[in-house]
Amino acid sequence: MIEPVDDRPDPEIRPYERRVAHVGPWDPRSPEVAARIADLIRARRPDLAVEHIGSTAVPGLPGKGIIDLSIEADPERIPGIVESLYRLGFQPQPGPDPWPPTRPMLVGAILAGEDEFRIHLHVQPTGGDMARDLAFRDALRADPELTRQYAALKTEITGGSSVDGFRYTHSKTTWILGVYKQLGYRIPAILPPATIGILGGGQLGRMLAMAGRALGYRIRILDPDPDCPAAPVADHVEIGTYDDLEAARRLAAGCAVVTYELEHVSLELVKALDTGAVPIRPGPYALKLTQDRLAERRFLEANGALVAPWREVGSAEDLADGIAALGTPLRLKASIGGYDGRSQVRIGEATDTGPARLLLEREAAAGRPLLLERELPFEAELSVIVARGVDGITSGFPVARNVHDRGILVESSAPAGVPAATAAAAIDLASDLATGMGMVGLLTAELFHMPDGSLVVNELAPRVHNSGHWTIEGTVTSQFEQHVRAICGLPLGDTTLRDGGAATVNLLGSGPDRPAAMRGLERALEMADVHVHAYDKRRVFERRKMGHVTAVGSSAAAAMEAARDAASRIAWADDAPASGEGGEAG
Ligand code: ADP
Ligand code: MG
Repeated sequence: MIEPVDDRPDPEIRPYERRVAHVGPWDPRSPEVAARIADLIRARRPDLAVEHIGSTAVPGLPGKGIIDLSIEADPERIPGIVESLYRLGFQPQPGPDPWPPTRPMLVGAILAGEDEFRIHLHVQPTGGDMARDLAFRDALRADPELTRQYAALKTEITGGSSVDGFRYTHSKTTWILGVYKQLGYRIPAILPPATIGILGGGQLGRMLAMAGRALGYRIRILDPDPDCPAAPVADHVEIGTYDDLEAARRLAAGCAVVTYELEHVSLELVKALDTGAVPIRPGPYALKLTQDRLAERRFLEANGALVAPWREVGSAEDLADGIAALGTPLRLKASIGGYDGRSQVRIGEATDTGPARLLLEREAAAGRPLLLERELPFEAELSVIVARGVDGITSGFPVARNVHDRGILVESSAPAGVPAATAAAAIDLASDLATGMGMVGLLTAELFHMPDGSLVVNELAPRVHNSGHWTIEGTVTSQFEQHVRAICGLPLGDTTLRDGGAATVNLLGSGPDRPAAMRGLERALEMADVHVHAYDKRRVFERRKMGHVTAVGSSAAAAMEAARDAASRIAWADDAPASGEGGEAG
């Protein structure tokens, strides 16, 4: 490795200022400016090849005017190169979501006459995206028609309102991925018998593992509980909590791709795994936006989706102000960590704030602001699951209608019985959100269908979802197989219903905490087209999700009737032996 010849920052490389970029016409000075920066770098590091990429590198292409440069190097040389670029005056990427240190982006600025050009300097590992970026640039330079198409898309994006802008961004990403494909840059599929790593070994991990297994993949799970529901169907369980980075690294080391089955895994852990060595799909950005209700609300609003009127609340004064401003009834929700209706309380009237204050105190003590939002008088709760592949193509499942009991999902059925235009709008909405977060894998959107027909987004989950269990028997491809297909770079499967309708009823535990033994299975299985799923949880307690029943039938209503009947035949024995039953080898 050639060391820098001296340590003085170059006076020409100036501090980078973070600001909202404005899209304008191509600046003919861009190539000279890029060449000057490349010369400055090569004066210190003659060993580096610096390429001008991005929209300023293509004559005639409108853009943000930021000079993008790219350097490719072997991974072990990247830290040394970054050090010498810092010494030259480049700076680390500011902002909350920088590129990871294994493929960092540095920033800087340079004067050209009166004007300052900002610089994004990418350092890419060999075999990464640089060859593709150059091929894209060269294709645009060589083909005026391609440049014209791309320019037209970009112009549309900047011309649109926020909602339309979002749609155009969607088509831009899809368009770019289509050009990559034409150029021969496909992200290679991950093929069996490769190993899929799953962070989380609950029932979702179990059903995901089973779908992966069916295709011939091997499965490794990270979970704190060696007897977690996914353990019996995994090749290996790495024992560790969802913030145990060492355990997660051991898991990833043997995997071709890593995914997660719950959004309550540590964001720091997922960021640390996202080195580029093993793809983590969906990536940290999707997790960040969906694990924190406040970040999620901001993302939804920025993308033109409807949400309930809300406030961020961090103190008793904020709470009082919020109640006054929003009016009751309200919901106060912890921003991080809630599920199945936990960590949220209802505020029926302005005087009824006792439980809310307790939740507020607990969260505020941990330094976490909360989400306060209006309780909406929805007509129905719907959910829509969409998959997005590595090529940017999205595919939605039929919209489901859901019923919750005190925050826990109890029933889901499809079709949802809403107008076709509403169902199509729900799928479009979720597809756009998936694109906006760069999702690879499944995104579930929980929606409120309002009396005026509008769709309000309640919650997003970057994963397979309880409200999609009916897809296992109800659609041509199940949500679990679809997620495996998406994260492995395989074509997405057909999502149409096999019959007129499908319905799932969750099997919730009841009674005291005790070893679990199912009763009534024989009676449930006497019914036609009824499918019982048990999650092999070792203990049962009140309202624990123990399994589910799906029925397929001529309509959603017929399927629901059958699923309810079958579910009512199943119960949990009072007298299970203390050691549990079977299957507990080792
Ligand atoms: P969780 O993460 O526990 O699923 P949700 O925010 O989805 O949290 O809330 C659980 C359930 O509570 C929802 O499915 C819905 O039935 C009810 N709920 C939550 N927020 C609202 C709201 N703003 N208006 C009406 N009902 C709500
Ligand atoms: Mg929810």
